[in-house]
Amino acid sequence: MTANRAANPAVVDSADIVVVGAGILGLAVAWALGQALGSGGGRSVLVVDRHPPSTQATARAAALLTRARGDAATAALVRDTYAAIEALEEELEEDLGLRRVGTLHVAASAARVESLRTLVGDSADPVEWLDGEGAARLAPCLSAEAVERAAFMPLDGFIDPVRLADAYRRSARRAGIRISIGLSVQAIRVEHGRVTGLETGQGFIAAPLVVNAAGAWAAGLAWSAGVGLPQAPVRSQYWITEPRPDLFPRDLPVLVMPDAGAYARPELGALLFGLRGRRSVALDPARLPVDTAGLDLGDSDGGLETLEEGWRGLARLCPPLLRAGIAHYVSGLSTYTADGRFVLGPAPEVEGLFMATGCCGAGIAASGGIGQAVAAAVLGMPVPVEMSRFAPGRLGAVDPLAPALRDACAATRSGKTSG
Ligand SMILES: Cc1cc2nc3c(=O)[nH]c(=O)nc-3n(C[C@H](O)[C@H](O)[C@H](O)COP(=O)(O)OP(=O)(O)OC[C@H]3O[C@@H](n4cnc5c(N)ncnc54)[C@H](O)[C@@H]3O)c2cc1C
Repeated sequence: MTANRAANPAVVDSADIVVVGAGILGLAVAWALGQALGSGGGRSVLVVDRHPPSTQATARAAALLTRARGDAATAALVRDTYAAIEALEEELEEDLGLRRVGTLHVAASAARVESLRTLVGDSADPVEWLDGEGAARLAPCLSAEAVERAAFMPLDGFIDPVRLADAYRRSARRAGIRISIGLSVQAIRVEHGRVTGLETGQGFIAAPLVVNAAGAWAAGLAWSAGVGLPQAPVRSQYWITEPRPDLFPRDLPVLVMPDAGAYARPELGALLFGLRGRRSVALDPARLPVDTAGLDLGDSDGGLETLEEGWRGLARLCPPLLRAGIAHYVSGLSTYTADGRFVLGPAPEVEGLFMATGCCGAGIAASGGIGQAVAAAVLGMPVPVEMSRFAPGRLGAVDPLAPALRDACAATRSGKTSG
């Protein structure tokens, strides 16, 4: 993390709008900018990344596109992703492989039924309530006796996250947006309260408008411009069983099981399941390596503690898990905020600086909506959703390096009950 300087290195490139990060959020913003501007739209857009597109958090996502979010604004962003998938399929004339298996939200106690009603209650999407028998008919790996009630949302699905991100990328390229890989941004340059561009390892990129979509590194990058984001990099993790199509049919719905702190979905005849655990691991944004591939999470135990604690609770709901071996463990860094909401839109302290981050483990699900909302904000167009709840400055002045912030963000992940 570099303090902002008024140095004047050689200008190596320039654009009207530069997006930092070619993960799914940066690419979705680029796609939406391309849609809004059209080819030859009069404004140049450049996306920069030090790694090839979608090789960090995006490549590791379970990619549940869960609609039930507990608030209308977030649910609208997810709904926009489904619309984006449809539009991309039409434009690119290909099937993006959306698996529309539905989501079964499972409640194992009367108290949980009440919170489930709150989660799905105001949904604008269809919801079907089931008893234990009905839930086990839809998802034969569930124990009918262990389920009190369940809410099925048939329009939900999951998708290959890299494939979706690549579709955003290709559509953006068609609209004339440039993507420059191998460029590491060291700092955002601010002069007289306005963004002027980016300092990179190769020189200065001049730009009056910058979108920070740098994922786990976004808080560090924003801090170089003196902007404190209320988020921290937090480990997310899941496991995949050996292939057992006899136990886990390919058309199983996505299962969200807050009583077990778990979610699951079919993965080519195996079961992919995530456990949230009592204690999530949050990292210091100032000490992140530049690549999370093979990242050693310091005090991490490779997820074993969470697996040991969570396994039995999950197997009570899903007994066939006891008969399947575990074949894979996947972990990566999402960003979580202290209040569980995204960080989107203009930074109040710096004119011309915008955020598309704070994904709270839902960046794939909300990518289409986030891309469109942030692009509209950057272009000064009407923003399609109510953005104040996601405003970067909503929690006041924040020290992004404070351990207390990291603890609060880790607790948000551990307490998550949606998909
Ligand atoms: C295990 C796991 C499971 C998940 N499951 C789901 C799920 O089921 N559903 C869901 O919606 N989401 C899920 N997520 C979350 C999802 O992966 C993220 O929300 C999403 O990928 C965030 O995208 P991003 O573009 O912000 O970040 P990233 O994909 O990490 O992209 C950020 C990019 O910025 C680049 N960058 C950063 N700093 C710089 C710099 N200084 N200079 C140049 N480039 C820079 C990086 O190289 C990177 O390519 C999961 C995440 C994990 C880890």
